[in-house]
Amino acid sequence: MTKNLYSLNTLLYFIRLLVCNNFSSIPSKTIDVLHIREFMSLNKCTYRFLFLLASLFLISSRFSYAQNKSPVVNDITQLNPIEIQGLIRPTNTQQIVLAIKSNKGPISIGGGRYSMGGQTATEQALQIDMRGFDSVMHFSAVKKEITVQTGITWRKVQEFIDGSDLSVKIMQTYANFTVGGSLSVNVHGRYIGYGPIISSVKEIKMVLANGEIITANREVNSDIFYGAIGGYGGLGVITEATLSLTDNCKVKRTDRILNLNEYQSFFNSTIANDSLAVFHNADIYPKRYNKVRAVTYSRTLDDVTVPYRLKPLDTRYGVHQAVYKIISEYPGGKWLRQHLLDPLLFKGNPVEWRNYEASYDVSELEPKSRKRSTYVLQEYFVPENNFDSFYPLLTSILNRNKVNVMNISIRNAKKDPGSILAWANTDVFAFVIYYKQGTKQKDKEEVAKWTRQLVEASISCKGSYYLPYQIWATSQQFTAAYPNALTYLTLKKCIDPDYKFRNKLWDAYYK
Ligand SMILES: Cc1cc2nc3c(=O)[nH]c(=O)nc-3n(C[C@H](O)[C@H](O)[C@H](O)COP(=O)(O)OP(=O)(O)OC[C@H]3O[C@@H](n4cnc5c(N)ncnc54)[C@H](O)[C@@H]3O)c2cc1C
Repeated sequence: MTKNLYSLNTLLYFIRLLVCNNFSSIPSKTIDVLHIREFMSLNKCTYRFLFLLASLFLISSRFSYAQNKSPVVNDITQLNPIEIQGLIRPTNTQQIVLAIKSNKGPISIGGGRYSMGGQTATEQALQIDMRGFDSVMHFSAVKKEITVQTGITWRKVQEFIDGSDLSVKIMQTYANFTVGGSLSVNVHGRYIGYGPIISSVKEIKMVLANGEIITANREVNSDIFYGAIGGYGGLGVITEATLSLTDNCKVKRTDRILNLNEYQSFFNSTIANDSLAVFHNADIYPKRYNKVRAVTYSRTLDDVTVPYRLKPLDTRYGVHQAVYKIISEYPGGKWLRQHLLDPLLFKGNPVEWRNYEASYDVSELEPKSRKRSTYVLQEYFVPENNFDSFYPLLTSILNRNKVNVMNISIRNAKKDPGSILAWANTDVFAFVIYYKQGTKQKDKEEVAKWTRQLVEASISCKGSYYLPYQIWATSQQFTAAYPNALTYLTLKKCIDPDYKFRNKLWDAYYK
């Protein structure tokens, strides 16, 4: 407080000096407070000169600071801060067209920014932040289809369609992601009988690098349709998407503990052809990785036991967050989860709405701080028949590198119907690894090392790895896991010859 008064006095003093231009009019009391009596004995001109010099220095340094301070975008892991040139938040297509036409430098596209390796930005790019571009353009409950602007989140789509008893056909487990980010990654969920989201997309609209607005579907501009879905913002901005929807049915949860080596035959005999199964996944318990809990939500006519249609927005996630902390940090935390917490969590057979089960909020995973350590995801895909050869490689690499794994979720996905950067070239099992890592450079280097080992293991099993996560795979690994990469890169060169649409993923692999 006293310090502030002193500064205020000093400021007033200098202002008077400048305004009055008269030293003698300054009350000596003020000067006393500032303890600068001796200083006042300096020649008036010298003093004014020094003051002017100091002001000029301050103004110029502030100016250059403001000029140098570029906005920084980051993703949920906080591992990838990227200084960009600027950011726009369009609300209509013309603003996107104008930004693309008038900006000479690189352009990146940001959705919810949940990808984890800088896929939404690169240095000195203009980021088009799509989160304000989120209207519903058309909806038909009869046709079970919806057309949306792609900055809309799944949650907002769910709120719109729930009243018509409809549900998103394919999406991730959480509802925070944007439709555009989900299409560009070609996401999948825990849905039985479905694969990547592309099979639920009827049509998209895009703005290309030359500012042209196009429509793309399976017949018109089909190369762009199959390139942009799963294309990580490299071909242009997807502005609108028409998606087919499905019924919002009631589902009943059942679960079962199995040995990991029994899982594939259990899946084939019990789940794969069960027409009632809607969601299914199996969690492999670390650190021993020998047991799984297989969880299925099946269509039912029973009354709901969970009264909500969607997850309430005001849910508090303190307990969830504490549980993740215990699992990742406490000695015996992983044992506790497997033998105490999960048996409690999975007690009973709740009946809920499909939309409720599809509206999880990522807040439940958020740690108090991501400064020293952070939660991260990775995902690997292998053809169904290679399940038994892949998981021993996976678990031995994780153990050898002492990776702090909290969970591995197994999912099943049907073959991709044609996207150029398909991660499922046949029916696959996916292994989603949720783990904790440090944020120091040496931690990142360690992760890079074992990530490449895991990528190699999946390639050796004729599989692939997922691109929205940290970008550690080598160029050779990228082209081995994505055999049509060259087709995509050639298409990109053709419709984006100046390499306008950029982000860290394309900086790594687009040569
Ligand atoms: C907690 C968590 C759980 C997850 N669970 C799943 C899961 O169950 N299944 C799954 O498949 N994935 C999952 N993911 C990965 C997630 O689906 C992707 O990271 C997805 O991209 C997130 O969407 P977003 O809106 O945040 O996209 P962003 O991260 O913002 O963008 C992803 C990519 O899409 C591009 N892009 C975004 N919008 C557009 C647009 N309109 N036009 C063109 N390009 C665009 C960006 O440039 C970027 O390259 C999960 C991620 C997290 C953090």
